[in-house]
Amino acid sequence: MNASLKLVDLKAQYASIRLEIDAAIQRVLDSTAFINGPDVQAFETEFAGFCKARHAIGVASGTAALQLALESLGIGPGDEVITAAHTFCATAEAIAHTGAKPVFTDIDPTTYTICPQCIERAITPHTRAIVPVHLYGLPSDMRAIREIARIHRLFVVEDAAQAHGATFMGEPVGTLADAAAFSFYPGKNLGAFGDAGAVTTQDPEIANRVIALRDHGRALTAEGKRAKYEHSIVGYGERLDTLQAAILRVKLAHLPRWNARRQALAQRYIERLSGCNTLTLPHTPPDRTHVYHLFVVRTPKRDQVRAKLAEAGIETGVHYPIPLHLQPAFAYLGYQRGDLPHTERAAGEVISLPLYPEMDTDDVDRVCDVILKILQN
Ligand SMILES: *Cc1c(COP(=O)(O)O)cnc(C)c1O
Repeated sequence: MNASLKLVDLKAQYASIRLEIDAAIQRVLDSTAFINGPDVQAFETEFAGFCKARHAIGVASGTAALQLALESLGIGPGDEVITAAHTFCATAEAIAHTGAKPVFTDIDPTTYTICPQCIERAITPHTRAIVPVHLYGLPSDMRAIREIARIHRLFVVEDAAQAHGATFMGEPVGTLADAAAFSFYPGKNLGAFGDAGAVTTQDPEIANRVIALRDHGRALTAEGKRAKYEHSIVGYGERLDTLQAAILRVKLAHLPRWNARRQALAQRYIERLSGCNTLTLPHTPPDRTHVYHLFVVRTPKRDQVRAKLAEAGIETGVHYPIPLHLQPAFAYLGYQRGDLPHTERAAGEVISLPLYPEMDTDDVDRVCDVILKILQN
C-alpha cells in the first residue's frame, strides 16, 4: 500500500523552512508589536516589489482585500459588479458586502476565466466594475477586459487570490487593473499561518483609502503617521497581523522558486497525460504565465476518476462543484440552471490533482499511472 498523497501538504512546506519561520515568530513575540509592527510595512514594500506594484496594503484576508478595494473605488448600493460564477464564493461575497449587486457571467471553457464577450452582454447602465478572477493561477484575458472597461468607463479589480506571480503580456498580476486583491490563506501559493491578504494598486489615492478603511477609518496625517483617535471615514478592523506579515516575509523570499517548482510539476503532469483524449489538460494562452495554484483537469468521468484515485490513497479536490449563480446564498439574484452553460459543465467535470512545491516527480507519476489506467481502458 502506497503512502497517501495529499492535494496540498502544508507540513512539508513548514518543515523545509522551519528555522527561519520560528525565528521570525520569536522576533515578533519578543517585540510584542502585534499590531502595525515594522514587519507589516516591510512585507508591504517587499510584496509590492514582487508584484512590481507601486503600493501594497496588507489586510486581514483575501475577502477583506476584495471588499476594501471595491469600497475604495466607491462601489456600493445601486451598483452592479460583473464577475465569473466559476470561482470561490468570496469573490461575490465581497461584492455583495459593499451593497452592490453581483452579476454573474460565464467562463471561457478553455481557460476557466471570465469570458470577455459575456461581460459585454452583461453591462447595464448600473454596471460600475468588473472583477476578473485569475482562477487556478492563470490570469484572465486582461487585454480584452481593460478595453471593455475603457469603453464603458468601468473599474476593474483583479481577484488575484490564486495567482501570486503570474503574468499577462509580461506584466505581473496585481498591476493590471485599478486594484488587485491577494489572499494569503494558508494553502495559497503564498500562504500565511492563518488569514491574511493584500490590496495592490498603482494609484496612491486608492492606496490611502484602503489604508484608512482597513484600520477604523484612521487617515494618515501630513507626516505620514496614523491618526490614533481621528476617524475620517467609517472603516473596519481588517488589518494584517504583524505575526502573519513576519511569516509572509520569510515565505515571499521562497515564492519564485516554489512557483517554478509548481510549473515544473505541472509540465510533468501535462507530458504524462497528454496522450489521453478523454482528459482535458490546462491550457495556457501564449500571452500569459500560469502559476498553478491548482492543477485542474476535466473529464466527463470525473467522479469515477476521483473514486479510483481515492482508492489509491490520492486526495483530489473539486474547485468548484456548485457555481455561484446556483448557490443558495445568491438565490436572491434569480439565476437558474442553464443560465451559464460553460460554468455548469465545468463544475461537473473538473478535478484538482495533488500539486505543491515539495512534491516529487514520482508522486506526479503515481497519480498519472492511476488516471491512465482508468481512462485508457
Ligand atoms: C481564497 C480566495 C479568496 C478569499 O481569500 P481569503 O483569504 O480566504 O478570504 C477570494 N477569491 C478567490 C478566487 C480565492 O481563491
